[in-house]
Amino acid sequence: MNVVCIGSGYVGSVTGTAFAVLGHPTTVIDLDQNKVDQINAGASPIYELGLDELIRKTIGKTLFATTSYKAVREADVVFIGVGTPSREDGTVDLSYIKSAARSIGEYLSPDRFTVVVDKSTVPVGTADLVTSIIEEASGQTAEEDFTVISNPEFLREGYALEDVFFPDRVVIGTSHPRARKVMRELYHNLLERVNYEELSKDFTFAYNWNSPKATYFETDVKSAEMIKYASNAFLAVKISYINEVARLCEALGANVLDVAKGMGMDSRIGEKFLQVSSGWSGSCFPKDTAEFLETSRKYGSELSVVKAAVQSNEKMHHFVVEKMQRHLKTLNGKTVGILGLTFKPNTDDARKTQASTIIRQLIDLGANVRVHDPKGMEMFRELNPKLPVGYCDRVEDVARRADGVVLLTHWKEYLQADWKRIQGEMRYPYLLDTRNFLPHKMLVEMGYIYEGLGIGKEL
Ligand code: NAD
Repeated sequence: MNVVCIGSGYVGSVTGTAFAVLGHPTTVIDLDQNKVDQINAGASPIYELGLDELIRKTIGKTLFATTSYKAVREADVVFIGVGTPSREDGTVDLSYIKSAARSIGEYLSPDRFTVVVDKSTVPVGTADLVTSIIEEASGQTAEEDFTVISNPEFLREGYALEDVFFPDRVVIGTSHPRARKVMRELYHNLLERVNYEELSKDFTFAYNWNSPKATYFETDVKSAEMIKYASNAFLAVKISYINEVARLCEALGANVLDVAKGMGMDSRIGEKFLQVSSGWSGSCFPKDTAEFLETSRKYGSELSVVKAAVQSNEKMHHFVVEKMQRHLKTLNGKTVGILGLTFKPNTDDARKTQASTIIRQLIDLGANVRVHDPKGMEMFRELNPKLPVGYCDRVEDVARRADGVVLLTHWKEYLQADWKRIQGEMRYPYLLDTRNFLPHKMLVEMGYIYEGLGIGKEL
């Protein structure tokens, strides 16, 4: 089956490579010549563990990358995986989707039936919008010559290959019988793990052989579009909830680590997404919750739980700054070191992360800020060109004459850091670990004034 993936970002590059690995001739199309060149040179355009290796093995064999839409002519399935960022008012910007749809329409072959798949996260009704753009640009008839369906993506950056090869579920939104047949055939090898043993030699990640096979769930297009937003908003609510519980634990002297553990033992609740942090952030949850909320308002059915989760999350970012302030009193003229600029470890994605909000608040209060991240500094700098922070290549440089260090992202590199040396650099050994991640007993013994989030006075 000939596959095309439009967009070679965090979703497109992984999806395209996965289908190529599974044996489908796959062309990744991106307007960004740099990304295309990188893929053609056998390198990943994003930082994702194991992806380089799989691209290197498939490029020129089953994987192709180009800036031209010509491959759409020969395609059985065209995935749209371009960005859907937020506009100022929180609603989604569909301009990349519309532009991709127009280009698909211009190249769509009249001689074959093509399934166009919205893989990007898009609001309910977008398949209809994409359909009319393609009809207009191609002069072809929807449902006869082509159809537009939804197949939302649930991968997590940092675990993208594992999630793509071993997903919990594959959601296919279409009522078109031919499209359903095409998509079942396309996903067959993945669902049945055909040749996975052979493929496993290439996998550098810990693959999940014992996990149950993915559930293949067919529904109508609007429900599939809704499943993605409803899922992301639900996860955001869950994090906001445990973060609020953490704040209460702190006030009452309970330990949120044990509270979350005890809650998670209930299979109705589950242990995932009960990890405390300085709040959810990144390239998906903020924009998806904002769009979902706006849509609910437009249709007179405001999602008040999601609204509360968004507000609670803003408070959580602020809570971190307040906590520092409580300890260090004035932040004016103080030096603060930040560890972690990405919204989670194992990715270079520094879009809309909690770090940018927290750092801005610290700077507004007069603090000097130094930052470190193992992979995210380049993107963070590009996205925040005017932010007056000092970028440090080494962890210990962040701590130089610092009055406090805040860990925002739980990179394993920070577990392995030389904490004795870091302490030696600091003016005052205050360490705020917003992920309750570091070996606190050892750090306290070393002389750190250690604080976590939601762990009361136990330490
Ligand atoms: P991204 O910004 O990393 O990648 C988008 C790519 O599309 C860019 O490389 C850009 O150059 C390219 N592009 C834009 N317009 C184009 C056009 N007309 N033709 C060809 N290429 C074009 O975005 P992403 O993080 O991969 O996200 C893509 C979509 O997937 C979004 O809707 C996002 O919400 C959703 N999603 C993302 C994740 C994630 O973890 N990043 C997970 C699930 C779903």
